[in-house]
Amino acid sequence: MTTIAFIGLGNMGIGMASNLAKAGHEVRALDISRDAVDRAVAAGCVGAKGTEDAVKTADVVITMLPAGKHVELVYGGADGVFAHAKAGTLCIDCSTIDVATARKVISEAHLQGLNMIDAPVSGGVGGAAAGTLTFMCGGTGEAFGAAKPFLDIMGKNVFHAGDAGNGQVAKICNNMLLGIHMIGTCEAFNLAEKLGLDAQTFYDISSTASGQNWSMTSYCPAPGPVPSAPSNKDYQAGFTAAMMLKDLRLAQDAATSARAATPLGTQSEALYSLMEAAAKDDLDFSGIMKLINGSL
Ligand code: NAD
Repeated sequence: MTTIAFIGLGNMGIGMASNLAKAGHEVRALDISRDAVDRAVAAGCVGAKGTEDAVKTADVVITMLPAGKHVELVYGGADGVFAHAKAGTLCIDCSTIDVATARKVISEAHLQGLNMIDAPVSGGVGGAAAGTLTFMCGGTGEAFGAAKPFLDIMGKNVFHAGDAGNGQVAKICNNMLLGIHMIGTCEAFNLAEKLGLDAQTFYDISSTASGQNWSMTSYCPAPGPVPSAPSNKDYQAGFTAAMMLKDLRLAQDAATSARAATPLGTQSEALYSLMEAAAKDDLDFSGIMKLINGSL
């Protein structure tokens, strides 16, 4: 049994922390929301009173927080993880944050004598609850190897993407591609329908032709062809348009700093910002179909 501090028990963190507790570890749960801590205690974790109480006896610290500023505060703040963790503690940040902050916090961890990796996930709330997440990790081989047994409990696929921050790089590049092919898929289905070709027939043809892609075959934004897709539940999320926009913004910030041309990533960010401006960003990200077909 390992003592694990788990900080950030929101939609994702609660399932992940519960799975670690179920596997027999002592999980010391911390969140600024009392309700979130109570839910974790009900799921077999130990409620922590503050950061020191959560991390001082822990061998592993796992965080699942909204954004880079929260990660900087939780690790580097005056009452943060770095101020209270034992030397040699392994820190695993599973939040999706900007690459620059991920690299900065990991290098500060090393200066404090701690090991740390970035390990953002895909798989959503369902994957967090079921323990089937995909982890994309950045950091030293040694830190990755130490983290892997814990990531294996929370996930099904665990990848080492290279040095610190490379987990975030893999995550934002993947989600930028997802946003782009979702919008392209919406355009194709909408044009087909306007020209008199129904969604199912177009799906049957294109899903076995060169236009085939994940947004089409696993998550079809046109209602009908893929029964499990959010398009059949009026685009109830799923993975919200707001979360897609967050990841597209992270990708654009990174592209600017790396001077990488991402013209379609830029367009995708602009289109998802229109979902936000219309206050429809709580829809599933495939709900961008409504923007494309004029029904938003
Ligand atoms: P969430 O907002 O539901 O949970 C975040 C939790 O962090 C909240 O409970 C909040 O109270 C807590 N928190 C914030 N500041 C804190 C602090 N200083 N100390 C302690 N706790 C603090 O978010 P989520 O949906 O669980 O997502 C977490 C991360 O995972 C995000 O970076 C998100 O982009 C990423 N992610 C989410 C999904 C998804 O489907 N929800 C999928 C993949 C990745």
